[in-house]
Amino acid sequence: MSADPLVLSRCEGCGLLYLPTAAPCPRCATHRETPVEASPLGTVLAATELASPSEGWTAPHRLVLVEVQDAVRLLAMASESLPEVGETVRVRRDGEVYRVMPTDPVGRQG
Ligand SMILES: [Zn+2]
Repeated sequence: MSADPLVLSRCEGCGLLYLPTAAPCPRCATHRETPVEASPLGTVLAATELASPSEGWTAPHRLVLVEVQDAVRLLAMASESLPEVGETVRVRRDGEVYRVMPTDPVGRQG
């Protein structure tokens, strides 16, 4: 599995960094943005586990709010255990969703 960088958008109008979206810049509404490679490391702001998630998601569904570079926040899924608030995690884009993985250096297989 490759270590893909986290890609964010940099607004060419005001310089704001935000999650890539089809919508214009959330601050100045400019439609020109440049993809920027950001660090995939982020800090957990909140984490919760849903025992009965919406249809189409497997239980337990672990949701993690992560803050990455420039205070950009994103909602990600944890496939393993739920991380602690304040923990540093690695964020990876997986199709339409973001996933977090512990940055624990122990080389676990799986
Ligand atoms: Zn802008």
